Amino acid sequence: MDKSMRAMVLHRPGRALELENIPVPRPSAGELLLKITACGICRTDLHVVDGELTEAKLPLVPGHQIVGIVQESAPGVEGFTPGDRVGVPWFGGACGECDYCLSGRENLCDQAIFTGYQTNGGFAEYCTANSRFCFPLPDGYPDTQAAPLLCAGLIGFRSLRMAGSGKRVGIYGFGAAAHIVTQVATWQGREVYAFTRPEDTAGQSFAREMGACWAGGSFDSPPQPLDSAIIFAPAGELVPLALRAVAKGGIVVCGGIHMSDIPSIPYDILWGERSIISVANLTRQDGLEFLRLAPQARVRTEVEIFPLEQANEALAALREGRIRGAAVLATGF
Ligand SMILES: [Zn+2]
Ligand SMILES: [Zn+2]
Repeated sequence: MDKSMRAMVLHRPGRALELENIPVPRPSAGELLLKITACGICRTDLHVVDGELTEAKLPLVPGHQIVGIVQESAPGVEGFTPGDRVGVPWFGGACGECDYCLSGRENLCDQAIFTGYQTNGGFAEYCTANSRFCFPLPDGYPDTQAAPLLCAGLIGFRSLRMAGSGKRVGIYGFGAAAHIVTQVATWQGREVYAFTRPEDTAGQSFAREMGACWAGGSFDSPPQPLDSAIIFAPAGELVPLALRAVAKGGIVVCGGIHMSDIPSIPYDILWGERSIISVANLTRQDGLEFLRLAPQARVRTEVEIFPLEQANEALAALREGRIRGAAVLATGF
């Protein structure tokens, strides 16, 4: 058993991660020790590294779409044994006792713990994780392609569900979550309308390849009014645009954890029973359902793979919109 491991460590928001050798963590009661094979990079990691999310523990190993092999299970672990392949998502713990936890809304728990934010995450060779918040992963996905299912997929799925069951779904920002949601929505028999930065023709053709029936710039009007719109890009100015794109009764879902300020809007674009809702985190039930559905819907993930020590380059590529699909760190075992 290794005593130390390579990890990409954040010491101060706004600064680059540093490649360091740190001790392999020890699992406490109820935790697994995982040897990490792949970890997806999420826009939330950017918000953590850039300091837009301000509650990160420091120093921190970011990363919350972790695929790993169980090395050790501490006392109190049920359902996992050494050698199992598991996934660790953003949602890493909850109190289990509050009104939210007891009403099927553990994603809103005030005591929730988030992987790669309040605990060390997956930009490393090993991590520990609360076994009750880990998922078995479906067969048929190599580790690097399974990783984006764990946040892009799960949050995307929850966002799609919040969007209701209408046929015409708009998606603003065509990154990791959008490319998965598009496949799920089209599998459900819906139409996806993709909105990207106006000049991003590569993103628009990627969206069509993934199944979108229409793709255009964020200022364009869709060919017909939408039933819902999901905003994955962290830009508040998209909210009024999305409200104008949905029909009466339409739902605008903000799928990100951070967004720039939303400009003030005339009431008439909200009128007509349009609504705006945010999506916070995920429940374990979302995870189980989505990971069962992904292989049925034949969801495939497009990934750009970076070695662990190139986490900064991968984050920069994501920040600049240069990633097609999802960025994933492969740990190289
Ligand atoms: Zn995420
Ligand atoms: Zn709770």
